[in-house]
Amino acid sequence: MDSRKIMALITFIVGFTLILIGGLYNPYSTPVSLTPGSYSAYMFHLRENQTKIFTVESLDVLTVYVANESGYQNAMDEGNFSSCYSTFTGKYISIKFTAPKDGKYYVIIANFNSESSIEATFSFGSKEMWSLIILGSLTSLLSIGILLHSMKKDRERIKLNARCPYCGMPINSSWNYCPSCRYPLRGDKK
Ligand SMILES: [Zn+2]
Repeated sequence: MDSRKIMALITFIVGFTLILIGGLYNPYSTPVSLTPGSYSAYMFHLRENQTKIFTVESLDVLTVYVANESGYQNAMDEGNFSSCYSTFTGKYISIKFTAPKDGKYYVIIANFNSESSIEATFSFGSKEMWSLIILGSLTSLLSIGILLHSMKKDRERIKLNARCPYCGMPINSSWNYCPSCRYPLRGDKK
């Protein structure tokens, strides 16, 4: 194995590992149970410009708020949800939220619409895992490119040596002697 093939193999293993990590990643998921008029809040530490995707699924209509620290405090102390970033109402809510700055953020899931209790599923993941899968795919493609390049180089090398250096007769790379002039094509020159 020449160094190019080893490099192709290492690149492939790295790419495959990235795809595996990205693909096996399971977004966190938790059941939420809400009596009428109640809510559950989930806190997240996010970096500036970090994006998270929140999904809330239910058979019933519910309301989801996204708030920063002060918006959350306002909602808890005053029962005033209007200072939250955004409000979503529905049975299936998918929110892609990008943090404007470093800090704590809250997802508040509320049952303000129904007279009966609501069961929901709250899940969240981050888009970083998709970038791992894409990066892994690109790395694997690169490894194929390196391998093809290495094979092309091998073919060129065989083509270059495809004639007997003594009489010029076309030869096969597996031959030991030239069939025309018996010139030794391989072996030790002493
Ligand atoms: Zn020859």
